[in-house]
Amino acid sequence: MIEDKNEQRTSLSDLGEFGLIDHLTKNFKITQKSTIKGIGDDAAVLDFDNKKIVVTTDLLVEGVHFDLSYMPLKHLGYKAIIVNLSDVYAMNAKATQVTISIAVSNRFPLEALEELYAGIETAASIYKVDVVGGDTTSSNTGLLISVTAIGEVEDDNVVYRSGAKPNDLLVVSGDLGGAYMGLQVLEREKEVFKVNPNNQPDLDAYTYIIERQLKPEARKDILELLKELDVKPTSMIDVSDGLSSEILHLCKNSNVGCDVYENKIPLDPQVISTCEEFNVDSTTIAINGGEDYELLFTIQQEDFPKIKANPSLSIIGHMKEASAGTHLVTRAESRIELKAQGWKNFND
Ligand code: ADP
Ligand code: MG
Repeated sequence: MIEDKNEQRTSLSDLGEFGLIDHLTKNFKITQKSTIKGIGDDAAVLDFDNKKIVVTTDLLVEGVHFDLSYMPLKHLGYKAIIVNLSDVYAMNAKATQVTISIAVSNRFPLEALEELYAGIETAASIYKVDVVGGDTTSSNTGLLISVTAIGEVEDDNVVYRSGAKPNDLLVVSGDLGGAYMGLQVLEREKEVFKVNPNNQPDLDAYTYIIERQLKPEARKDILELLKELDVKPTSMIDVSDGLSSEILHLCKNSNVGCDVYENKIPLDPQVISTCEEFNVDSTTIAINGGEDYELLFTIQQEDFPKIKANPSLSIIGHMKEASAGTHLVTRAESRIELKAQGWKNFND
């Protein structure tokens, strides 16, 4: 398992709150034109001309959303940014700024927070967002991280969950179920490690799915691709909770139904082999496993030729009138009502 290799342990109380903030934030650079004032005043100042602004927040709680026994702090910092950027991209917006608030207990030395902030910095520089503020406070229990992300988008380009129409095609980027199966592998190794700490796990067969869990990416590239292809989705959402739950959100918000085809759901070979090893159904995992951070969207039928040959995009179904309901069409061609949960008996 991943051990904290930090030799040095500088107590947070040695620095004080302001020293800590200065130390953690000194490397952040401003890259966005819209950032007028970043860290260092009572509030950041932003200028977006005539653009629409999108704002989104996520709160990550130790023991609920992450487990530090296998989640390195650097990855956690990275992931905390990614999960928010994913929401910005799901509005078809460009992410421009983030703020980061942390509550931290004395059990963390400064070196641990440096790791966390190294991950934050890496994500901010790769995705070109400015860190423009945050808050720092103490916690009596675990670590809490709240990130707020801000983005900009032209009026006409905002994509809501509510724009899907009957006959629109349902499209998802990448592949699904990887992050969930990666978590299953990490949980299993954690149990093995508890019994025998000398046992070094061989995780070579699981590198892709573990990376999907520990170091997810947000699909900024898909927005760029759609722009290039001249396709504007009619509705969009990111896949954070699981495909079926996100499909139901689109259907409900757009007041449409849908047919989703089991045999069209994109699966990585590592997800399939790990599902076999764990004796779980890969469709169930792809549909209910969360944290894939792919984009799920609908397009008009006429845009089909533009996207059909693209390896990053899978057409998994189409929208229908609301009265037709929401269904999964299985490989055996039976129709099962799509539910946000309760897939446990899917194979029976
Ligand atoms: P205030 O007293 O107004 O809350 P702080 O002293 O908490 O101000 O923050 C000083 C500056 O540092 C502000 O610009 C704030 O947004 C920023 N900041 C505070 N904590 C963090 C953090 N954990 N990460 C990034 N920026 C932070
Ligand atoms: Mg403050």
